[in-house]
Parts: sequence; structure tokens; C-alpha cells
Amino acid sequence: MYTVAVISGDGIGPEITDAALTVLRATGVELDFVFADAGAAAVDRWDEPVPDQTLEILREADAILKAPLLAPKGTGRITKQRHGRDVVYPSVNNALRRELELFVNVRPVRAYPGVPARAPQIDVVIMREVTEGLYSGIEHTIGDSAAVAVKVVTAGACERLARYAFAWARSKSRRRVTLGHKANVLNLSDGLMLSTTAAVAQANPDIEFGDMMVDAVGLCLAKSPELLDVIILDNQYGDILSDVCGGLAGGIGLAPGANIGERHAMFEAAHGAAPDIAGTGTANPVALILSAGMLLDHLGETAAAKAVEQAVGDVLAVEDTRTPDLGGSADTATVGKAVAARVAELMGRG
Ligand code: NAD
Repeated sequence: MYTVAVISGDGIGPEITDAALTVLRATGVELDFVFADAGAAAVDRWDEPVPDQTLEILREADAILKAPLLAPKGTGRITKQRHGRDVVYPSVNNALRRELELFVNVRPVRAYPGVPARAPQIDVVIMREVTEGLYSGIEHTIGDSAAVAVKVVTAGACERLARYAFAWARSKSRRRVTLGHKANVLNLSDGLMLSTTAAVAQANPDIEFGDMMVDAVGLCLAKSPELLDVIILDNQYGDILSDVCGGLAGGIGLAPGANIGERHAMFEAAHGAAPDIAGTGTANPVALILSAGMLLDHLGETAAAKAVEQAVGDVLAVEDTRTPDLGGSADTATVGKAVAARVAELMGRG
């Protein structure tokens, strides 16, 4: 029996969480779901978006399934008291990742047969650094008319990310790792990420390595995504290019993700809380369902993880079981039930 902490999230979060839990239950893997509040629900109950009570539940779980949270523009900073001093996080998601010491956001994005895609050949995995970069939360104003944000890059974080990316690539039989950076302009910060990653690449000669300017990575994704495989990116570049990849694959509702640390792991879709469609029943639950599949893989439940991935592909191949963002007319719950039924069949429980 594994304990899985669940954050149902804001906006479309509760709807897609229901669908993902239906699929997890269908696998037959013994999972005990413990619900924890974050974001708006936590503010209602505890008066803060990332309460210590929630962090305690998350830290005790074997894995975390998290739906998207609203992060207000310009006012979403979160301050926690740690070791007698204030630690400031720029957003609720950043606070959760850093409080749990999650250092990499793994985002696989691929197109699915039958689903209309701008780049049907795309099959990439973004390895996004999530502890520092421009999202370190170090930002201040100078008078009334200027502001400064500090980009933090440390050799330790770059090396840890690169080691993880190469080990992951090897374990999943991926052939190539590419670092996207801007070391021609950000000589010292991105330059450090480049030299550190290149040194790790030298110690992993069985995996091809190359580096590209991040703008060239964008062009390559748009023109020839088949040339890219595993892509290491800093916090901000990874944030932006994940959405681009989702769009190329057919929609952001297809892009799952895992946030991995030494002790904890949190699984969430790449997309946000989509407040514009919340409550309409049209949200695509696939990204969170695929994230739940990654959670099973992380727990060592490989057969169940593979069943979820295959079931998603089988269900997406049929227009009747696709949500409107992918050209279908099915609602969120229908897609969840269809994937769950196929998972049960594949697991011999149908
Ligand atoms: P978004 O991803 O929520 O929405 C962008 C567009 O994609 C919208 O048109 C939306 O309807 C659509 N979309 C997103 N997910 C979808 C799905 N599963 N099915 C169908 N359509 C989907 O991005 P945004 O509008 O920039 O952000 C909304 C809120 O979510 C903001 O408060 C933002 O800070 C937050 N956010 C949270 C996370 C997270 O929790 N990890 C990530 C990104 C954004």
C-alpha cells in the first residue's frame, strides 16, 4: 500500500483530479489517497496558500499528485519563516517545489496517432531546472521606475540536473541530450550552466550531447522537432518551451510532468488552472492522467504505468473520446472513464 498525497488544485483542477484518480483506482495498485489543501482552498482554510500542515502531509507521502494552482499576477509572492528568517518564493508552485527540495521538472511531450498535431513527429523530454535561475525570487524595485530580477545559477544545481538528465536518458533508452542556453549573451550565468553540463556529458559518452542557443531550440522545435530528444533547460526557458512543445503536440492538455527530488516526488500537468474553462466539463484530463502514470512508474509499478500510457494512446485514437481542445466533444469525466476502462482491461481486471 502506497500513500499518495493529492492536491486537487484550483480552476479545472478538481475536475481533472477526479478523472486521474478514477484511472489510478482502475490499475488495482493499492493506493491510499490523502488530500491536502494548497492555493485558494488552503487560503480559505488556513489563511495561506502553502500551509505547513499541507507540507507535512506531502513530506510523509510516498508520492504526490498535484493539480494546477492559480498564481496571481504580480501579487503571488509567498513568505515562509525558515530557521528564524524569511524565505520568499515568487509563486505557490515555486514554493511547493522548493520546500520539498524538488530539483528537476521532467516533462515528456509527444504527439499521439489520430490526434491533430502541428508537429506529429514530436517526441521530446524537457528537463527543467526548478530551484534557481530567474525564478529564484530575488527581485527588487529601484525607485518607482525600475526593477531588477536576479538570475541565480550554481554549478551544484547544474551538475545535479545534468547527472539526472543523462541517467534518465540512459534508463529510458533515449539517444541524445541537448542543452538550451544563452551563453553568448549571459556569459557568466548561462556560461556556467554550459561548462558544467558539458563536463557531465564527457562522463557519459554513451549518450550523444550537444548545446544550442535557446532561440535556436525554439526554431528547431518548430521546424524539425525530430532532431531533439532530451532537452536540458533552465527554469524560465523550460517553463516557456514546455508550453510550445505541448502546442506542437496538439495541445497543452497532453503534456504531463514529474518534479523529482532526493526524497520527494510530485507529479503534475504542465498546463495551468485554465480558469477560462473551469466548471464547463471540457477540460482535457490527459496531462494529469499521464502524470499519474509517471507517478506509478516512480513507485516501481511499471506494468500499471505502461497500461496507463497505452490506454491514453488507445482512447485518444478515437475522436469520440477526445475533449474539445483536441477536436472531440467528450467531457472530462467521459475521457477519464474511457481511459480507466481500458487500463482495467490491460491489467486483466476488465
Ligand atoms: P493555462 O495553462 O491555465 O491556460 C492556457 C490556455 O490553455 C487556456 O486557454 C486554457 O483554457 C487552455 N488549457 C489549459 N489546460 C487545459 C486543459 N487541460 N484542457 C483544455 N484546455 C486547457 O495557462 P494560464 O491561463 O497562463 O494560467 C492560468 C492560471 O494557472 C494562472 O494563475 C497561472 O499562474 C496558473 N498556472 C499554474 C500552473 C501550475 O499549477 N503548475 C502552471 C501554469 C499556470
